[in-house]
Order: sequence, then structure tokens, then C-alpha cells
Amino acid sequence: MRKLLEVLRTVFGVLLIAVIALYAFQKAQDSWKSSDFDNAEMAVKPDPVIVTVLVTPEPAAEPTPEPTPEPTVDPESPAGRALALGLPTPPDIDVTSWEFMLANGTNSIDEYVPAELATLEEQTFDSRIIEALSALAQDSRNQGLSVYLSSGYRSYADQAANFDRVCANNGVTDGKNYKGFYITMPAGCSEHQTGLCCDITDVYYPIKDESIADTDLYKYMSTVCERYGFIVRFPKDKEEVTGVMFEPFHYRYVGVEAATYIMENGLCLEEFLYLYTGINYGANA
Ligand SMILES: [Zn+2]
Repeated sequence: MRKLLEVLRTVFGVLLIAVIALYAFQKAQDSWKSSDFDNAEMAVKPDPVIVTVLVTPEPAAEPTPEPTPEPTVDPESPAGRALALGLPTPPDIDVTSWEFMLANGTNSIDEYVPAELATLEEQTFDSRIIEALSALAQDSRNQGLSVYLSSGYRSYADQAANFDRVCANNGVTDGKNYKGFYITMPAGCSEHQTGLCCDITDVYYPIKDESIADTDLYKYMSTVCERYGFIVRFPKDKEEVTGVMFEPFHYRYVGVEAATYIMENGLCLEEFLYLYTGINYGANA
């Protein structure tokens, strides 16, 4: 009996150990499965996608400039034509006024006669320029310079006779020199017929030519004439435009504003009038 009990106890002990061992094994297997599952899950888990976004840095915000109004110069305006030629804006004047009457080789004034004539130092002029002409002459005399006025107003008939005489003296029939520039104008085309000009020299000259540019009077008067509203009408470098030889003695009244603009920008009357009308009045038209 005692032997039986001992066997049973042994069997029971073995069984107990077996159960414990089985339990432990089961537990270990579960743990392994769980771990394996985790690994499997890890295996299919996609790698995190690293997206590199290239961010272009915003440029430093510049201060928004105030919208500058576009220059609105009409190219068909005096300012627009001047701008195209690199000239400053011309004065706001009406070139249809009497001061701007144009007589040249391509623009005849026919038998025009000034409304009122007046005399100054034995010469006749349009009465409207007498005061300014007298002041111009006086300015030079105040500098100790000798001033002699000649060739004021010349009528259509006078100009016709003058033309014939000068042509005969020079052996020509068209009033032009060998360069093709007028030395006398056909009747209707002389500026002297407007009564708005005067030949001014230091003394009397039987023939007036370019050499007068060397006189002290010309050197002075050509720099101050604009103050009195006069211009050197036929400048040295504008013969192609005026069609007339350089006349360093012929002064033309156009008013102070226009004279200042013309002399300070080195223009001739034809070029000045073009700015306002868009018409080329020059001999080179
Ligand atoms: Zn003259």
C-alpha cells in the first residue's frame, strides 16, 4: 500500500511537472507567435515616404512703387515734336500771330503790305517793332558800339527791282550764289517785305556779306538780340534750311519768348514754326 501511494505520488508529480511544462511551452509559443506577427506587420509596413518639397524662397517683398503715370506727350504737339528732336518744350504761343509771318523762297507773301508803317533812323518798319528795335540798337550803343540801320521794309515793287539789280550785278538770273543759296529773293519772298526785320551793321557797307560776322557789333548784338525779341534770321549753319546765305547782319523780330527759344536752341525760323505746325517750310522740304 505504501508502495502504491509512492507510485501515485510520483505519477502525480510527473503529471504536475508535465502540465507546468506544457503551460510554459504554450506560453512561450504564444509569445513567439505574437513577436512573429509583430515582425510580419513590420515587414509590410511601408517605409515612411520622405517627400522633399523644394520651396522656392519668396523674394524679399519690394516696396510696391506708386504707379508712375506714363508721359502723355502727343507726338503731334509742339512739345512732342520738340521731344523727338531732343529740344525742350517750346513756349505756348500762337504762331498764326503777326510776329511769325513767314516769307521765304518757298512761301511767298505775294503783295502783302504791313497795316501800319513807321520810321526809325530813316528806315521804314512795321510800326509794331519800332520800340524793340530802338531798344536793341540802344543796348549796343550803350556798350560803345557803332550801330547803323539799313534795309527795313521793302515793298513788293522795290523787291522786284532789287532782285533784278542784284542778279545783274552777280551775273545770275535766279538770285542765287554758286552754292545755290539766295543772295536776293524774288518779289514776295523777301522777309524785308514783312516790315519785321532790319539789317544792322556797325557802319555802312555797299555789299553786306559773311565778313560782318567778324565785327564787334555782330559778336555782341547776336548774343543779346533775343532779349529784345530779335533773332539772327539766317544763321551760318542753317543755309540748307533757310535757303539763304549766312547773313550776320539781318535781324528779325519774333517776340522775346520765341526769340529766346530759337537763339538758345540754335534754330532758324523755319525749324521753329515746324514745331507748331508739323510742316517743313525749309528750302530742303
Ligand atoms: Zn536783310
